Amino acid sequence: MKTPKQIFDELGEHVIGQDEAKKYLSTAVYTHYKRCTNPEAEIEKSNILMVGPTGTGKTLIAKTLAKVMSLPIAIADATSLTQAGYVGEDVENCLLRLLQAANGDVKLAERGILFIDEIDKIGRKSESPSITRDVSGEGVQQALLKMIEGSVVNVPAEGGRKRPDGVGYIPMDTSNILFICSGAFEGLSKAGTVTTEDLTRFGMMPELLGRLPIVAKLDPLTKEDMYNIITEPKNSILKQYEKLFALDGCTLTFEKRALAKIAMHAADKGIGARGLRSLFEQILLPYQFKLPDIKECTITEVHVCNVLGYPVTDNFHDDMFGIGTIVNGKRILK
Ligand code: ADP
Repeated sequence: MKTPKQIFDELGEHVIGQDEAKKYLSTAVYTHYKRCTNPEAEIEKSNILMVGPTGTGKTLIAKTLAKVMSLPIAIADATSLTQAGYVGEDVENCLLRLLQAANGDVKLAERGILFIDEIDKIGRKSESPSITRDVSGEGVQQALLKMIEGSVVNVPAEGGRKRPDGVGYIPMDTSNILFICSGAFEGLSKAGTVTTEDLTRFGMMPELLGRLPIVAKLDPLTKEDMYNIITEPKNSILKQYEKLFALDGCTLTFEKRALAKIAMHAADKGIGARGLRSLFEQILLPYQFKLPDIKECTITEVHVCNVLGYPVTDNFHDDMFGIGTIVNGKRILK
């Protein structure tokens, strides 16, 4: 069994920054495992709520966690869920996907991770209970609550709608599934702390929040984070493009300042790390177009500035930040 610290370190090979969230998650999954292997201890489950801006690593952390722990994971979007019986996806279908991720092994699926994104988008529309039923909000929260609390759910074996005759159901016990809910909670994540009161203002049912006692906050990515995301993870975007060019026998090199400029742009525009790929595509297009004829390709800071629309002035280098120095283990870009 891996220790929380080992899990944390392995997460760190893929996820840059977000140390607090990584700490919460690695501890939670360690506890989850202990709980599953010692049912006689009757430890209650603690599910997780991740709060943070889009594109900052919430899904990545959950996926990496599953990989590190060899647990099946299914990712669902809360906004596509409906209360049972309404048009849309039933909560049960998420369990079906988890079962598929476990290659049909029910026992394994019952200890897996269910990641539910956009949880902040299914808030009750008004704070006071409304007269008209709120099928997309409260109804879904109720259905989720039941599943998160732990119940035996009949999962439609072939997916799709439930059949009235009960044929083709697989009963799945959800009491040992680790639920990780995630949402941007716009406006809230900018504030320092996240309280239960804040979350209820988003229309989250207190009963549901009570089942998500671990709240992990993710921070917006800084330019330093972006730089590290580009260069450091095992399968970083930079390494991917280097490999792609190498397949044509071409050596791809970036000036460090060119990378720094891309990082700064991504952080400034608030596009999250998800936008990095599209920046790389734009920047590399003229060179990719010439493959496989070129054998060497150096991406300069000037080229990046031209593509991203930054003026290239005389004192241009003074405008750019350097690659920075490492202070107390943290990169500081000037
Ligand atoms: P969200 O917070 O919206 O769930 P994701 O985890 O899906 O965001 O991030 C989108 C992509 O951006 C990831 O697949 C990954 O490539 C990159 N990314 C985001 N945050 C990080 C991070 N902290 N470290 C490394 N890569 C990241």
